[in-house]
Amino acid sequence: MKILKFGGTSVGSAERMRAVASLIQNDEPKIVVLSAMSGTTNALVQIAEKLYQNKNQEAKELINSLHDKYKQVVEAFYTSTDIKKKAYELINNHFEHIRSFTLDLFTVHEERAVLAQGELLSTALFQFYLEEQGIPSVLLPALNFMKIDENEEPDADYIAKNLKTELAKYPDTKLFITQGYICRNAFGEIDNLKRGGSDYSASLIGAAADASEIQIWTDIDGMHNNDPRIVKNTYPIAELSFDEAAELAYFGAKILHPSSVLPAKQKNIPVLLLNTMQPEAKGTIITSQSKGGSIKAVAAKDDITAIKIKSGRMLLAYGFLRSVFEVFERYKTPIDMITTSEVAVSLTIDNSKFLNEIITELKEFGQVEVDTDQTIICVVGDFIAERSGSGLKIFESLKSIPLRMISYGGSKNNITLLINTSDKVEALTRLNDGIFERNNGNNA
Ligand code: ADP
Ligand code: ASP
Ligand code: MG
Repeated sequence: MKILKFGGTSVGSAERMRAVASLIQNDEPKIVVLSAMSGTTNALVQIAEKLYQNKNQEAKELINSLHDKYKQVVEAFYTSTDIKKKAYELINNHFEHIRSFTLDLFTVHEERAVLAQGELLSTALFQFYLEEQGIPSVLLPALNFMKIDENEEPDADYIAKNLKTELAKYPDTKLFITQGYICRNAFGEIDNLKRGGSDYSASLIGAAADASEIQIWTDIDGMHNNDPRIVKNTYPIAELSFDEAAELAYFGAKILHPSSVLPAKQKNIPVLLLNTMQPEAKGTIITSQSKGGSIKAVAAKDDITAIKIKSGRMLLAYGFLRSVFEVFERYKTPIDMITTSEVAVSLTIDNSKFLNEIITELKEFGQVEVDTDQTIICVVGDFIAERSGSGLKIFESLKSIPLRMISYGGSKNNITLLINTSDKVEALTRLNDGIFERNNGNNA
């Protein structure tokens, strides 16, 4: 069984969805995981914002314009009158459902139900097309097997058990379609795996189904060595290890959801990053092997807050760090980077929901300084295999940029730096010119 996930741009129009249908046509058993059509989840987020603000008239206008967009998709997608009729009924029902939320007070549960509509629509519309083309397939409702627990972590056992039950209902079926992103939570309500979560769905489904391969089809030819939205002349990396890919995804390489590598790594399932616009391109293959020997890529993660705790009590004191970490644990706030000196510890968080509470508690240990608008720059490669000099290349490239924190040696895969967000573009550009050897077995 293979898992093939197609992102928003790849299913962004009737034409793109037809291209996807032709890409999946072979006899291999597969589960196709689809995102919402590009722009849809953003539009649903906007609708939810208006409903929260009680601006129901504006919400209705946004709903109408999204509905119109889907009517155009239906017109362009199908030729058969019967299928077209079914597709109109489908979209009209979904939009009536979304409109029903404009009638009374809007709650967080309703917001999640609204956000789920994009994937429910794209998968159903896509499956109607397969039906029109006479391609046998089954639509598997992700809400029947995809689940997160009370800590908002995927419930792997539940997912595996329920996915197998769903698949077993169709022993003769080779092609399954399902929704990315959406799931149920510990209370059985509709929820989601956070923005960009369809990649995570694909790898969770891959792990649950013991897939032989997970393919992430998107709008670029693999993981690039730098952020192509910011830097010119980036190139795709042919091979990455799970650990390298996980670092890049976690530290900002948008091509992969931050958590999506782990389920594949745990089951040792290769992940391929492929381009729907250029299906013949090699893309990136992610396996347990690292090619080693070089700096492979950089990524950047914004919206970071740095916190420094300075305390005379840290001097020669054991248990100090534990007490500091316990504060973050109490507020379920993960720490990304940490550096220490004899009298102070600096760390970073990307979730500042409980920042005020955390600062209040940390003040009991000493002086607390907070810097917002920080960016983590993560340089990924195989730094053990690298003979020497990678640090030099990195710091030489960044010599004009103030560095707030540096972390090296935590793993052999990365060197992480903290800078002001206002210096990010310059930092990524200078690193692009300064640290890469272009002919390192990459696709350059
Ligand atoms: P999808 O909708 O298919 O999930 P995304 O927009 O989530 O696609 O991810 C693909 C985008 O990620 C690319 O178009 C690219 O702009 C962006 N991106 C950011 N960093 C990288 C990187 N290091 N390599 C490749 N793409 C990246
Ligand atoms: N549709 C969701 C989003 O836009 C999930 C995804 O595309 O991966 O975030
Ligand atoms: Mg994505």
